[in-house]
Amino acid sequence: MKVADIPSNEKSRLEALYRYEVLDTDMEKVFDELTELASEICDTPIALISLIDADRQWFKSKVGLSADETHRDIAFCAHAIHQEEVFEVSDTFLDERFKDNPLVTESPNIRSYAGAPLITPEGFAIGTLCAINDKPKKLDAHQIKALKTLGKQVVTQLQLRLKIKEVESANERKTDFLSNLSHELRTPLNAIVSFSKLMIDDKTFDLPDKQKQYLKHLDYSGRRLLSLVNSVLDLNKIESGNFTLEYTSIHAKTFFESIHSITKTLAAKKSLVVNFSCETNENEYFQTDETRLSQIILNLVSNAIKFSPNEQTIDIKIKLSSAILVVAVRDEGIGIAKKDLHLIFEKFQQVRPNENQEGSGLGLMITKSLVEHMHGSIKLSSKLGQGSLFKVKLPICTENTFQQTDIPSQTQHTFNPNAKILVVEDNLINQEVAKAMFHTIGISISVCGSGEDAIKKLKSDYFDLIFMDLHLPGIDGFETSKKITSMDPDQKIVALTADVFSKADSKLARNGIQAYISKPASESDLISVLNKYCPN
Ligand code: ADP
Repeated sequence: MKVADIPSNEKSRLEALYRYEVLDTDMEKVFDELTELASEICDTPIALISLIDADRQWFKSKVGLSADETHRDIAFCAHAIHQEEVFEVSDTFLDERFKDNPLVTESPNIRSYAGAPLITPEGFAIGTLCAINDKPKKLDAHQIKALKTLGKQVVTQLQLRLKIKEVESANERKTDFLSNLSHELRTPLNAIVSFSKLMIDDKTFDLPDKQKQYLKHLDYSGRRLLSLVNSVLDLNKIESGNFTLEYTSIHAKTFFESIHSITKTLAAKKSLVVNFSCETNENEYFQTDETRLSQIILNLVSNAIKFSPNEQTIDIKIKLSSAILVVAVRDEGIGIAKKDLHLIFEKFQQVRPNENQEGSGLGLMITKSLVEHMHGSIKLSSKLGQGSLFKVKLPICTENTFQQTDIPSQTQHTFNPNAKILVVEDNLINQEVAKAMFHTIGISISVCGSGEDAIKKLKSDYFDLIFMDLHLPGIDGFETSKKITSMDPDQKIVALTADVFSKADSKLARNGIQAYISKPASESDLISVLNKYCPN
C-alpha cells in the first residue's frame, strides 16, 4: 500500500479548509443532495464528500457508508487532492498503491474509485466528491464530467455557507454597535431635551422673547433628532430580526383617551378638527405591546396631520371587539397618487409634492412591520388631492382581570414627598438632569456614580426606591440590581436607561428590577413610578 504524499502547500491548504468551519458539523441537505446525485449518475452504491484534515478524512456527506471518518493514511481521497482532474482507480486489485489497503481488503471493500477534487477559489484542494464501487468500474466521459461539475457545486455551496456566516457575524457586530450607539446618542440627546424642557417650564426666570424662541427651537430639534435616532434603531432591530414585542394588559379606555389627548395637542398647532370615536367598554382590558401600539397609531395620526392643510378635519375611529382591534385614520389632505401607493410602505420612500416636508420616510415602513409582527394588517386607500384612509386591524385578546405590569402615565402626585430616592447614574450631565427633574416634582435625591458605590452605600443606608441606569462603568445596572436584591429582596428598583435594546422584560425581572422607564424620562413617568412604589 502506498500512503499519499503530503501536498507541498499543506499548511495553507489546511488553513483554507478550516476557514470554512465545516469539519464535524451536522449533515446538510444541500450537500446530501449532491452526493445522492453523484451516486445516481455514476451508478455506484457509495458517494462521499470527503474533506482531508491533518490526519483524517472526514465525510461532510455520505451515501452508502456509515463511518464518519477514516485515517488519512488509507484515504483514496488523499491521493485525489494531488491533481486537478478526476482521480480514478478502475480496479483496486490491479493497483499496487491500493490492493492491500484495509478499505479494499475489508469493508467497504472498495474495488473502484473516482474522486473529483474540491478546489477552492484560491486553488487549494480541500477534499473530494467521490463515487465508490465494490465492483471494478471505469466511469464514462459523461459521468466524469458530471462528477467534476457536482464537485464544483460542492465548493460553491461551501463558499455560500461561508458568506452567510460572514454576513451573520457582521450583523451581530452591527447590532452590538447600534446598541452602544443608541446609548451614546440618546444620552446627550436626553440632556438636551430635558434641560430645554426644564428651562421652558421654569417660571422663576423670565427670558427675553427671542431667547425663549431659541429655547423652543432647541427643544423641538432635540425631540426630532431623538425620534430619528429611534426610527433608525427600530429599523435595525426589525432588519436584524432582533425585534421582540412586550405584551402587557392595558386598560382600553385610558389608553385611547391618552391617544386622543396627544392627537388634540398635535392637531391644535394646525387648527385641525379631530373627530375621535372609540367603541370600547368601560372596564375592558386587552393584551398588547402598549409602546408599539401607540407608535403605530401616532405615526398614522401625525402623517394625517402633517399632510392636511390647516383647519381641515381628521377622523379617528377605534373599534375594539372581542378578537379584533380596528383603527381607522382618515384625513382630507393632499392624498397620494395611484402610481405612488405601492411605494408608501417601502423604507426611505417619500412622495414629496413639497420639498420642505420633514420626515425620514421610515415611519410607514416601521408601522407596517410592527403591525405584521402583531399578526395584523394595514390597508391604505387614497386619492390625490382628496385625502387618505389608513386602516389597521390587529387580532387581540381582551380580558376582564387586570394584572398590573405596566404603569399608567399619571400627573397627580400621590407619592410620599419624604421618600428616600437613590439614582445610580454615571454620566455627570444626566446626574444634573435627574436632580433638576426630581427637584421640580418636590423630591430630593441621592446620587451614586457607579454600581459599586451604590452597593457600598446600601450597606449603611436605606432607600425606598432606586432608579438604576443600566449602562454603567464597572458592574452594569443588571448586575448591580442582582447584587442589591440578593442583600435585600424587598428593595424596589426601576431601570432608567437610554438604551432601547435593553428593554427585555425577562432580563430586567431576573435581576430584580421591577419596572423600566426610558430616557428621556418625562415628569409624568417619574410621578407614575413614585406614586406606585412610594405611596404616601
Ligand atoms: P415620513 O417620515 O416621510 O412621513 P412615512 O413612511 O411616514 O415617512 O411616509 C412616507 C410617505 O408617505 C410620506 O413622505 C408621504 O409622502 C406619504 N404619506 C404618508 N401618509 C400620508 C398621508 N396621510 N397623506 C398623504 N401622504 C402620506
